[in-house]
Amino acid sequence: MPEPASHDLESVLRGWDGEASIVRFDHETGAWIFIALHSTALGPALGGTRMRVYPTPAEGLRDAQRLGESMTLKWATLEQPVGGGKAVLALPGPLDAEARRGLLRRYGGLVESLRGAFGTGEDLGTTPEDMALLATVTRYVHGVEGGHVTDPGPFTARGVRRGIEAAVRAVLGRDDLRGVSVLVQGVGDVGYPLASELAELGARLLVSDVDAGRIERAVSTLGATVVPPDEVWDAACDVFAPCAIGSVLSAATIPRLACRIVAGSANAQLETPEDDARLRERGIVYVPDYVVNAGGAYAFALHGRGEHDPETLLAHMDYVGEIVDAVLAEAAAEGSSPLAAAARRAERTLARGRTPAS
Ligand code: NAD
Repeated sequence: MPEPASHDLESVLRGWDGEASIVRFDHETGAWIFIALHSTALGPALGGTRMRVYPTPAEGLRDAQRLGESMTLKWATLEQPVGGGKAVLALPGPLDAEARRGLLRRYGGLVESLRGAFGTGEDLGTTPEDMALLATVTRYVHGVEGGHVTDPGPFTARGVRRGIEAAVRAVLGRDDLRGVSVLVQGVGDVGYPLASELAELGARLLVSDVDAGRIERAVSTLGATVVPPDEVWDAACDVFAPCAIGSVLSAATIPRLACRIVAGSANAQLETPEDDARLRERGIVYVPDYVVNAGGAYAFALHGRGEHDPETLLAHMDYVGEIVDAVLAEAAAEGSSPLAAAARRAERTLARGRTPAS
């Protein structure tokens, strides 16, 4: 699909092949509420609520659409009876606490009015407190139970760990992580629990972060070796696990990478689609971000089906490793990249969902 002009709301609405873009202007705050329902072929849509200031409303809508599409892929890769969607609350500027609460209540009312066609959870710019507030207005918030809000970070981290184990088995022929060097970029909500699990399993842990306090925590509690943020590209390691920001794999960084595997939680790791081929040319196995970081989303889906016990949910994250196994095996068998194999897997699942039951 050609990229529509980002400044034009109408062309963004027209140019999308998703099922529905729900648009509401919030007069009280000047914010735009966008809910992009990309595909309900597999079930009611589930995706996070992002809140931030965008240069134009059209960019907020486009972000919701793009993120909704990637949720469709994520759910289909997981073979879950869940559709792809995402919400964006595009702010005109920073809001004070009362205005923010008002916006969230009205947004929650809109979600409730969809009667389950869209369910949501936390995303960039929204907090556990926001989810608790939303849950007072709508039933369709996942991860909130009796006022307690589930943090997806440890579930995402467990899924990434299982994905790393699968990739290490496939690429390095190793059944455990003892002595395997893993560089975790960003030791935050996902990166820190991931680093803790890796350290426990005997991996040689390298960490990088722009936050000195977080680095200090990883060094003092996990005995990690520190890599300065601008040196991560050149650091020799078996596995590079980006768990901070997007677009870290690019024409500029890929030639410098000194790893065999890339597998981490960060969303949108490839700067451009061509970066997948660049990684292949370098012999680096890239585990697609939307596959290996699916744990948090999967935990929310299970939560929505009544599974609330944290230990049981963590155990379910083994499934992410099984999918990485399957994707890497298909990629090897077909001589394609894991990214292409994951897309084929998702398309097969979606095609089954689109076929009416006879
Ligand atoms: P977070 O904000 O808790 O942690 C990110 C960490 O990265 C912070 O410690 C930050 O200081 C550090 N950082 C920022 N820029 C950096 C840089 N240039 N170099 C090194 N470190 C840097 O975020 P999080 O929830 O842990 O999420 C991490 C990534 O994983 C994000 O891309 C997020 O979209 C993605 N993700 C998170 C989840 C989840 O469950 N939280 C699920 C799926 C995907």
